[in-house]
Amino acid sequence: MGKIILTGDRPTGRLHVGHYVGSLKRRVELQNSGAFDEIYIMIADAQALTDNADNPEKVRQNIIEVALDYLSVGLDPAKSTLFIQSQVEALTELTFYYMNLVTVSRLQRNPTVKSEIQMRNFETSIPVGFFTYPISQAADITAFKATTVPVGEDQEPMIEQTREIVRKFNSVYGEALVEPEILLPDNAACLRLPGIDGKAKMSKSLGNCIYLSDTEEDVKKKVMSMYTDPDHLKVSDPGKVEGNPVFIYLDAFCKDELFAEYLPDYTCLDEMKAHYQRGGLGDVKVKKFLNRVLQEELAPIRARRKEWEQKIPEVYEILHTGSEKARATANATLADVKRCMRINYF
Ligand code: ATP
Ligand code: MG
Repeated sequence: MGKIILTGDRPTGRLHVGHYVGSLKRRVELQNSGAFDEIYIMIADAQALTDNADNPEKVRQNIIEVALDYLSVGLDPAKSTLFIQSQVEALTELTFYYMNLVTVSRLQRNPTVKSEIQMRNFETSIPVGFFTYPISQAADITAFKATTVPVGEDQEPMIEQTREIVRKFNSVYGEALVEPEILLPDNAACLRLPGIDGKAKMSKSLGNCIYLSDTEEDVKKKVMSMYTDPDHLKVSDPGKVEGNPVFIYLDAFCKDELFAEYLPDYTCLDEMKAHYQRGGLGDVKVKKFLNRVLQEELAPIRARRKEWEQKIPEVYEILHTGSEKARATANATLADVKRCMRINYF
């Protein structure tokens, strides 16, 4: 059996550096490693509609933004199939059949869905579609017989839910589905990058993001305004490194060789952290260095985006071709599923 990747993003906004370290960067590495037989990258517009039902135009417009972000970080349509979820009808049909294999109380226990419901103030009026999106995610993953799902830590409960559905389906109807494995970032700082406001997760919905497409000036402004250690008031005060977003970002992005170029006072991040902890290192200096580190990573992405922005019809064509291919694969799985369920009458 082949090694297959399925992963994706909701088109609810442009992609940010949390997506980059939590998932995008890894995808590009896996794509270029040649170790996978198929790579499917999905723009999850149907899932985005589950909590944006009255804002379809926002979802529609962000499809192209996410596609541009994909191409600018180095996802290559010759190696990865980029597609739009709503164009693959079989995914909806699979979701409907999987719904019979999951209980309401099991969905209610999903910690990510719980916190997302709170974040959106949905407590008293959860749209059914939103509540059941972990089931639709199981359909997305299994439709492509994905073995590997590279995502951030917040997706762990979704993958577990998918694995349960697969086991249940295979035991009730026969072995048609593949149990996927989650592939988390190997750097702890990248599991869940905090927002520039210090909140636990950088998220489009929280407005605390540095976007891949931000201008050089925007990035600088955001970095200089970042939340740090609130007790680190004077330069001479000892500062906290743990839980301090500026240092978490450095953990995620900084390579030690950048010190020689931008901040020769130190040879590595540990030395800089030690100085901050004993006092005598000001936030402004740390932020200026972080800004240079980020600019170094983002400049080539920004430049590639500019090029693709000149070729929008070509980008739509890539999504169209990818969606046709995804549709054929998902249809084949749906046919298998219906055969196993004995609902193939004609
Ligand atoms: P929304 O607020 O609309 O849910 P989001 O910013 O949470 O948007 P998603 O599209 O839900 O983004 O997530 C896409 C992928 O990016 C997932 O694999 C998720 O784990 C990863 N991801 C999102 N935010 C972060 C983050 N702050 N740190 C690490 N990974 C992240
Ligand atoms: Mg999310």
